[in-house]
Amino acid sequence: MIRLQNIHKSYITGTNKLHVLKGIDLHIKEGELVSIMGSSGSGKSTLLNILGLLDNHDEGVYTLNQEEIKAMSETKAAKLRNNLLGFVFQSFNLISFKNAMENVALPLYYQKVARKKRNKTALEYLDKMGLKDWAEHMPNELSGGQKQRVAIARSIITQPKIILADEPTGALDSATSVEVMNLLKEINQSGITVIIVTHENDIAHMTDRIINLKDGRIESIIENNKINSKETIRVPQE
Ligand code: ATP
Ligand code: MG
Repeated sequence: MIRLQNIHKSYITGTNKLHVLKGIDLHIKEGELVSIMGSSGSGKSTLLNILGLLDNHDEGVYTLNQEEIKAMSETKAAKLRNNLLGFVFQSFNLISFKNAMENVALPLYYQKVARKKRNKTALEYLDKMGLKDWAEHMPNELSGGQKQRVAIARSIITQPKIILADEPTGALDSATSVEVMNLLKEINQSGITVIIVTHENDIAHMTDRIINLKDGRIESIIENNKINSKETIRVPQE
């Protein structure tokens, strides 16, 4: 599903060139739950942004769904970004003046789905996240965990094949982090490939495979025990 071959990426600021990714080779299969770990500045977000077609690589070959990204038009890439991929961020990125339901419905607005239909679908997704009773609430009335569940509902409402999450638990306490991770695991078990960037060992150990980045290179890949990593703890309903 995802294949990276010798991917390089540098940032140029003024006269400085910072070589961030130094030859990444990686294969992620459909249905995997993978984490990317590494210290601050090791290139995790850069790698995730390239995977998510939010940024371009300089060298190497990135093949997504059998299609080479560099050979693709921007229109085609945008189509893949909107239809194949879903994004979750550390800071939730909810729109402060829209309620939970409207936030979840937003991708359908961009797909020009009529208001009634998109709100109905958004409510179904909020219900799946255990947030049915919170639909009318504004983001500032929700806890961190609830906000992230709204953001996750928004990321899957377009039925993507791959979810890319950059530090999805970075702003949450450890109990809430586990809840959010269990939700991402359930989403993964429904067949969606999930790729999570994290600093936290405990979070990474909840995934099938840990990719350790160090200074722009893959230092090691750890296969977690599938039985442990697939243990499911139900997300409490609120
Ligand atoms: P963190 O754990 O702190 O989020 P990270 O592993 O995600 O770190 P990246 O955000 O990928 O690291 O950044 C890798 C390096 O590239 C850092 O030194 C960063 O300062 C630099 N960098 C990232 N984005 C840009 C940019 N748009 N322009 C210039 N330099 C950048
Ligand atoms: Mg980062």
